[in-house]
Amino acid sequence: MRRASPATILILGGTSEGYALAEALAEQPSLRVVTSLAGRTPKPRRPAGELRSGGFGGADGLAAYLAGERVAAVIDATHPFAATMGGHAAQACAQLDVPLLRLERPAWSPEPGERWEQVSDWYGAVFALRMLGARRVLLALGRQELSPFAMLDDVWFLVRCVSRPDPLPAFAHAQLLLDRGPFELDGERALLARHGIDCIVCKNSGGTASAAKLQAARERGIPVVMRERPPRPALPTASDVAAALQWLREALGARAGSGNAD
Ligand code: NAP
Repeated sequence: MRRASPATILILGGTSEGYALAEALAEQPSLRVVTSLAGRTPKPRRPAGELRSGGFGGADGLAAYLAGERVAAVIDATHPFAATMGGHAAQACAQLDVPLLRLERPAWSPEPGERWEQVSDWYGAVFALRMLGARRVLLALGRQELSPFAMLDDVWFLVRCVSRPDPLPAFAHAQLLLDRGPFELDGERALLARHGIDCIVCKNSGGTASAAKLQAARERGIPVVMRERPPRPALPTASDVAAALQWLREALGARAGSGNAD
């Protein structure tokens, strides 16, 4: 008797949720699990299952990949701010009628006592810093997101990034701190105190790894300029791996039931 070939699941990764999902699926013999990374990090952690790396070449390139690899379902587990990839996934999956789930950790919302200025882009954040009269600012952003802040030549910045910005924008006053989460509350408190920080700029990544700075800011009585998440297509969404596994069981079951399974 001929054995059914494993169903290929594509995880669009780059987050801890993507790795955890690959881990949870990789042991299942009925599945072939491929994680896709953008390929920007020089030595990325290897996911369980297969790894592919680099852009697909837009929505059409992704559609060609899905068709070529006979992908049975896609889980978009990219970072909440990786909205371009999310849009391409929605387009390509709709074109081919491939089930698509968004796996996304919930956004943070301000706790009582937290002072947030919510902005939708980094120029809005620059404006907010001006309005707040901030003088010593922790920029907790990606290294490619820094340049709008260099126009503030009367502000001192502590620039915290995972890897070195290349080039570092021409800040008038700045110190670079290369560090990677998770960040503990005691360390965040000490960092803000040591540098006399009077405002934090960050984005609403959600999750626990980088949330301690928000509590540290509240305790210190300083504001946070928070960039809101970019809009994404309306999709079935899971907020954790268990919910994603449940969705996948149902999606693959429905395909098998309709005779469309590979
Ligand atoms: P983006 O703006 O949404 O994507 C830009 C382009 O990069 C996409 O059009 C795609 O190229 C390629 N790409 C993105 N994610 C990919 C993936 N998982 N596999 C293959 N190609 C991918 O994304 P981004 O904000 O530059 O982030 C890049 C990656 O870093 C994402 O995978 C994300 O999960 C991770 N990340 C991002 C952030 C953040 O703050 N943005 C934080 C932590 C981790 P093609 O059009 O050629 O297919």
